[in-house]
Amino acid sequence: MAKCYRSELVGTFGNPIDENPTGVVMEAGFAERGLDYRYITMKVAPGDLKPAMEGMKAMNMRGVNLTIPFKVEGAALMDELSPAAEIIGAINLVVNRDGWLWGENTDGKGLLASFRSEGIGVEGKTIMVLGAGGASRAICVECALAGARKITVANIVWEQGLELAELIRQRTGAQSEFVFWNGPVAVPEDTDILVNATSVGLFPNVQEKPDVAYDSIRPGMVISDVIFNDPRTLFLGEANKRGAKTVNGLGMLVNQAALNFEIWTGTKAPFQVMREALEKEFGL
Ligand code: NDP
Repeated sequence: MAKCYRSELVGTFGNPIDENPTGVVMEAGFAERGLDYRYITMKVAPGDLKPAMEGMKAMNMRGVNLTIPFKVEGAALMDELSPAAEIIGAINLVVNRDGWLWGENTDGKGLLASFRSEGIGVEGKTIMVLGAGGASRAICVECALAGARKITVANIVWEQGLELAELIRQRTGAQSEFVFWNGPVAVPEDTDILVNATSVGLFPNVQEKPDVAYDSIRPGMVISDVIFNDPRTLFLGEANKRGAKTVNGLGMLVNQAALNFEIWTGTKAPFQVMREALEKEFGL
């Protein structure tokens, strides 16, 4: 058989994108499994997503990840969406099936997988999520579809938070509530899991933490942060001080990368190798 000199191409479209470490994680996975895939990190100008997507098809790429600011716009360019992505209204994963584009959102699924690896389930649980942006929408919808009992959304902008709480109520089996976040927000006593899904604490603003009434955090609660750069956030530090179980943003990042890997390649992701590559990148 003739040798094949062509690599399968995947990658990511975003802006800003230069500091996104996903390529390191994916390339480590491909090398470990001996797959001739290349992951290319691409800066696409806002307004250029459509031609970029056409280029992706023309180059016969297997697919791309979409990150800020393309997750919502990308969903509208798909031929088909996964059921969850359709509810969320945003995607972070595109699969190119011979020109037929399928969109999925693995952000919330990544968080659920990260929880599972820590022995944490969401079924029947009461969950509070801070923020109502893209990550929050994916997390709220996936937790609700996975059987969470109730989801409380706290947000600093009234309309977005209310709209997300309404979406959960109408499109999933979970109860939901909206809390207008205009001062230190208290964590309700019956909360099992609290997730920071805001961008507060993201590098370089590592000295910031969400405005939470931290004394309302109790030892039995699970406190999770989506922030992965740096994963040792002040938010999780406050939770640690109060004896809560904490889950940092690295687990969500690696798990969603592993899901993307498996969807693109059809091969089981070498999870530990991918996680170690990310930890090495952050000097952990
Ligand atoms: P968005 O910009 O869509 O959402 C950010 C949210 O944070 C919004 O609800 C925004 O409120 C809220 N927010 C911003 N500043 C404040 C503040 N000072 N106080 C309270 N709320 C605030 O971003 P994404 O949802 O896409 O991403 C959020 C974070 O999640 C990012 O840091 C990103 O890196 C991280 N992330 C991590 C992943 C992982 O795998 N670990 C995966 C995906 C994202 P409003 O818009 O109403 O003003």
